[in-house]
Amino acid sequence: MHDHRKLGRELELFDTDPLIGAGLPYWLPAGAAIRHALEEYIREVEQRAGYQHVYSPVLGKRELYEISGHWSHYRDGMYPPMDIGGEQVVLRPSLCPHHALIYRSRGHSYRDLPLRMAELGGMYRSELSGVLGGLTRVRAIQLNDAHIFCTPDQVAEEAAAALGLIKQAYLALGIEPTRYRLSLPGQDGKYVGGQDMWDRAAGLLEQVLVRAGLAYEAEEGEAAFYGPKIDVQIADSAEREASLSTVQVDFYLPERFGLEYVGADGARHRPVMVHRSIIGSAERAAAHLIDVHGGAFPAWLAPVQLVVLPVADAQLPEADALAGRAVEHGLRAVVARPESGSLGARIHASRLVPYQAVIGAREAAGGQAALRLRDGRQVPTLSVAEVLDRIGERVTARSTELWAEGAIDV
Ligand SMILES: [Zn+2]
Repeated sequence: MHDHRKLGRELELFDTDPLIGAGLPYWLPAGAAIRHALEEYIREVEQRAGYQHVYSPVLGKRELYEISGHWSHYRDGMYPPMDIGGEQVVLRPSLCPHHALIYRSRGHSYRDLPLRMAELGGMYRSELSGVLGGLTRVRAIQLNDAHIFCTPDQVAEEAAAALGLIKQAYLALGIEPTRYRLSLPGQDGKYVGGQDMWDRAAGLLEQVLVRAGLAYEAEEGEAAFYGPKIDVQIADSAEREASLSTVQVDFYLPERFGLEYVGADGARHRPVMVHRSIIGSAERAAAHLIDVHGGAFPAWLAPVQLVVLPVADAQLPEADALAGRAVEHGLRAVVARPESGSLGARIHASRLVPYQAVIGAREAAGGQAALRLRDGRQVPTLSVAEVLDRIGERVTARSTELWAEGAIDV
């Protein structure tokens, strides 16, 4: 494990500036490439799983959060309201109220359900500056969020499907949870609703965990104020635990916002909201990936996926052409030019890049490249077209394996 704060700056993934402020990191091009790949992955996975994407604003009237309960139960985590033309507007502490209103804006029949609404959206948390550091505790958060509006009968299946997406994503990201936590309310009165509501929601989540065959620990005092949740826990290099992904069952917000659907019986019914996040926030996911992989990211996430290494200046035209074709193929590719050092030095400098294509006189003459993998394996010389196809295939598959077959150990 590595310290993402140190490595993130060394690898030029992100940084901060005192003039922007603590807890407000910016993403440099290499870090932005990782985040973009994550966002693209999430949108694809969600689209295939039947989610519809929306965009909603990061501001909302104070009244919105009074209705949602955030104002009375979560105000410590919120920024003070801003007065705009006699109205009070706040930076949103979560996306749920906006999504509830989007649902409410149209009539719904039971045939529309489950309605899965997803957004990679901004939200804001008023963290104290003392706990801020790197990407794990930030004041502006980009959340991979979704809300599934469904009938009570559909809750267990939807929650189980969300857990399945989390499992699939962790495989692609090359990360593992430390444990699953069933987060229940505590005794301190910051939770809404009656005991029946909590028992019912917690029972559903417990059933999902048991059916999925997942070991879990129930913990009081960790629920959201509106409902219990399954938290997928991870640990950083200092063994500090954090929740990355989550699946929550909520009977409360649908009630507060008066959400409805027309049932098969023609009568109006209340839907249930399942809140879920597959990879949590872009910030925390990136921090954990840096921690776990130490900069040697799975190929599909790597800021540079292919480095082309001409042995001498004479092979520069072929090297530039290969990198150009790779970029056209949608890969992130660069040329490490001979002027920047010996071949050995350039290979060393590119040691975190998953694919390293060496072009000497023989390869240049034959339209080929000698491909090395980051782990030291050497692939038999391939044509340039085949190099691009094989790398493209690994990247599209979002595999953590750099090569499928035929790689020879050096
Ligand atoms: Zn939510």
